[in-house]
Amino acid sequence: VECKRILFLMTPATYRSGAFLNAAQRLGLEVVVGIDLPETLSDYWHVPLGLDFSQVEASIQTIIDFAQTHPFMAILSLDDSASELAARASVALGLAHNSPHASEAARDKLLMRRLMSAGGAPCPIFREFWLHADPVEMARQVSFPCVLKPRRLSGSRGVIRADTVPEFVSAFHRLKRLLINEGYSENETSFLVEDFIPGFEVALEGLLTHGELKVLTLFDKPDPLDGPFFEETIYVTPSRLSGEMQQAIAQCVATAARSLGLREGPVHAELRVNDQGPWMLEIAGRSIGGLCSTVLEFGSGICLEELILRHALGEDLASVERDGGAAGVMMIPIPKAGILRSVHGIEEAQAVPFITGIEITARLHNQLVPLPEGASYLGFIFARGETPEAVEEAIRQAHQHLHFEIRREIPLLNRS
Ligand code: ADP
Ligand code: CA
Ligand code: CA
Ligand code: CA
Ligand code: CA
Repeated sequence: VECKRILFLMTPATYRSGAFLNAAQRLGLEVVVGIDLPETLSDYWHVPLGLDFSQVEASIQTIIDFAQTHPFMAILSLDDSASELAARASVALGLAHNSPHASEAARDKLLMRRLMSAGGAPCPIFREFWLHADPVEMARQVSFPCVLKPRRLSGSRGVIRADTVPEFVSAFHRLKRLLINEGYSENETSFLVEDFIPGFEVALEGLLTHGELKVLTLFDKPDPLDGPFFEETIYVTPSRLSGEMQQAIAQCVATAARSLGLREGPVHAELRVNDQGPWMLEIAGRSIGGLCSTVLEFGSGICLEELILRHALGEDLASVERDGGAAGVMMIPIPKAGILRSVHGIEEAQAVPFITGIEITARLHNQLVPLPEGASYLGFIFARGETPEAVEEAIRQAHQHLHFEIRREIPLLNRS
């Protein structure tokens, strides 16, 4: 029997690993996990492939050496952290994958904007500024309202709207502090300032095959996202936008993918829609984040992760469609900083009609950090129903039942 072996690259923290590992098991794949470990641990942890994603050359070599005796059919980065590594290792091993350049462009918002606007995808006017420069000087060059944005963070971290010069200056200092805390150097780091695009936001899940985009699903984000911070909350599919607008959105994403050179595998794209049509926010060469994919099913009971694995193994999925009905998920935002003391109302929330699950992912007694600095959610609410309206309403009701007791206090122990 031919052994189908696949390499998953992931950080220890990713939510997506469970769904991908289960899907791989269902498909009878042998999985090798390449995990990003801190240097101090990688010598001691006997996982098959302890990698340091920041040491790209060494990681590629480790993967090549391993593949000599254990060849892979595909390499998949489960989150953004290793998409460029997956691309470069795939080149070295002759495996189908997005090119390293495309993978980099999908990770770096400045490169992404340059390529998308050159490629004809409608996007906001953008400018590059440096952390060491004078914010008052910058503020003279931008038009308001605008959005300050780091190049390589995700989950809306560090994305801040400013309507005035003073707001711009304080947003700048906040972003600078965050980036320096993340290890970026003041002298060598630039960021983006974009015109604020008003409108309704959507997210598209798609699959690219030799450059052709197949739309898997289009989500509406019914909560207004007007800033100053942009926490994602509810995603509902199918979209309630007109068929015509949905076509335009798909076109826009196809143009964006083409202009970056993304050609293979999953894409998650985010757009704004207003009376001028769709505008690209960003496109990533991976599937939707967090546990959100839980609500999606395709071709009678296949999950998104299984679809992505089958695609990576070369299966033709042209005829696969999302299973009928409406589905939605809420990423439960962190309302304020503090220690999570208790969570109440889960049973009541679960009992709301159409609610299919509640996952609280924040851990009790841990420090919670809201946006724009924080990188996590309290958890997820999942729903399925007849209509997007019913699903959205169920999610809102369930959320109202949940009570998170968050106390502002100094933790006695160091966070670690
Ligand atoms: P991230 O990779 O951190 O998710 P995004 O570019 O997607 O960064 O920005 C996060 C959110 O900020 C978007 O989903 C959107 O709501 C808002 N946003 C970003 N850029 C703009 C913009 N130019 N105009 C309006 N809203 C924006
Ligand atoms: Ca590391
Ligand atoms: Ca992103
Ligand atoms: Ca985003
Ligand atoms: Ca997002």
